[in-house]
Amino acid sequence: MISNVKIPVEEYGPEACLEAVRHRLGCCDNVRIVRMLSRILDMRDPEQFYYTLTMVAETSDDAVCKGCFPVYVEPPVPDRKKVDADRKPIVVGFGPAGMFAALELLEHGLKPVIVERGKTIEERTLDVERFIRERRLNPESNIQFGEGGAGSYSDGKLFSRRNRNSGYAGRVLDTFIRFGAPPEIAYMGKPHLGTDVLCRIVRNIRNHILQKGGEIHYSSKMTDMVISGGRVQGVCTSKGETLEADMVYLAMGHSARDTFFLLHEKGVAMEPRPVRVGVRIEHPADTVNLMRYGSKYYRHKNLGAATYSLNHTDRAIKRGVYTFCMCPGGEVVNASSHPGGLVLNGMSYAARSSVFSNAALVVTCHVEDYPGKDCLAGFRFQEGIEAKALKAGGGAWRAPAQNLMTFLGEKRGCFFPETSYKMGIQAADMHDIFPDFILDCLHAAFQKWRREVPLFVSEEALLMAAETRTSSPVRILRNEEYESLNVKGLFPIGEGAGYTGGITSSAIDAIKAVERRIAAHFV
Ligand code: FAD
Repeated sequence: MISNVKIPVEEYGPEACLEAVRHRLGCCDNVRIVRMLSRILDMRDPEQFYYTLTMVAETSDDAVCKGCFPVYVEPPVPDRKKVDADRKPIVVGFGPAGMFAALELLEHGLKPVIVERGKTIEERTLDVERFIRERRLNPESNIQFGEGGAGSYSDGKLFSRRNRNSGYAGRVLDTFIRFGAPPEIAYMGKPHLGTDVLCRIVRNIRNHILQKGGEIHYSSKMTDMVISGGRVQGVCTSKGETLEADMVYLAMGHSARDTFFLLHEKGVAMEPRPVRVGVRIEHPADTVNLMRYGSKYYRHKNLGAATYSLNHTDRAIKRGVYTFCMCPGGEVVNASSHPGGLVLNGMSYAARSSVFSNAALVVTCHVEDYPGKDCLAGFRFQEGIEAKALKAGGGAWRAPAQNLMTFLGEKRGCFFPETSYKMGIQAADMHDIFPDFILDCLHAAFQKWRREVPLFVSEEALLMAAETRTSSPVRILRNEEYESLNVKGLFPIGEGAGYTGGITSSAIDAIKAVERRIAAHFV
């Protein structure tokens, strides 16, 4: 393994990698790069950016220097314990958590039955396009609901801070590669897929599951859960079916409010948890590139659209302000799932080539901020803001928008920069949408950031509302085996259960939940 190889970004390419390895080894013509392990962009010197690489190389008399990029070597499949193949566990929801739970169950010889309230990815994409065109939301088929889950129309960022070194993150990346992701994601510092690649992968995962004997029931919402003697017995669906099972993986994401109400009514143990709420902020991609890369590199062809990550903590009031879910070269999308409220988010394509870059800019909201002390009060808190955003936008899915300088009270009637949001914007005052504490925190953060990154706090920035679905306001309680505290056989997993945030962490949660169960009960 050869680590810490530095190549100037201008020179980066297959030949330069090989040359650097030859130089490091002090030889020789017969060198071959077998695998790239990591590639990190080093921007510490604004006059000279480098890629820092770690590679595995091989030298032998037979080795041929082909000058190609290192090939991806598929890791050996671990030997998994096969179990009672007649059992058919149910998986509710076919987002990242549901997909990875189903794949892992299949690896162990169990054939999952998946119930998904939305449609196939192909039909869902048509519904999302129709929504933009006709402004009529399908509450069962949209950016939150349907095959592939909330992550399908996303930037497809695949890094997981919490699980970075666990080995599970690598397994998730390997699985994505197996189903069609570019091998580079295995070594890129901050891998991402883009919505175009993600949708293809979702289709490939579906076909694999069906081929291996899994079942997928589309347009089948779980409308009831059969629980008897503290044990799950199965689920009822909107198609009038009752599906029996003694293992149910609950992977319904954080937006299925009707399902949370159902589970609460059934007495499934849960508790409220904090969320983060705020705005989407959008800049021209060039501005962000200039801010991050500096004047020498901001249009360099070897560097993609730049990312950023900003945070500010107000210690006095114990709240954080963060940028989150950044979409460089992306677009702002309408991620609403019910007709009474407007929710924004961001996505991008693999090329990240849009002329805009956006990010969520959110403030920590505590359980005490919610209107009530019951478990579901967090949903009402989110809903209240989403309803105000819809109203402030004029009610036809335009996004209420405010120039950052007007928001800061520094210039009246600032112009509206162009935006990537396809459903249009409406001039609005963020004070009509958010509680004061959120606005105060945003103001404080902008004052700090204008000193650190002046280009960020400029007239070119547009604020749009509302960014409310960053995480689940509820946690479904479970034990160390990932089993509900009070319903045996029920496994709440992924973002909706309140344990994860993002595609990779939700996938990891699902793999671990299946593994723990199999290890505990079937070996
Ligand atoms: P979901 O993906 O929400 O999947 C839940 C599934 O359950 C849905 O398909 C839903 O239809 C189904 N369902 C719900 N209720 C029922 C029911 N009663 N019966 C049957 N089915 C049901 N994360 C990242 O890591 N990187 C990103 O770049 C990124 N960008 C994003 C961009 C957008 C626009 C959005 C909306 C989210 C983005 N996220 C991103 C977040 C990421 O998508 C989620 O963290 C992830 O999808 C959560 O996975 P999950 O499987 O737990 O839930």
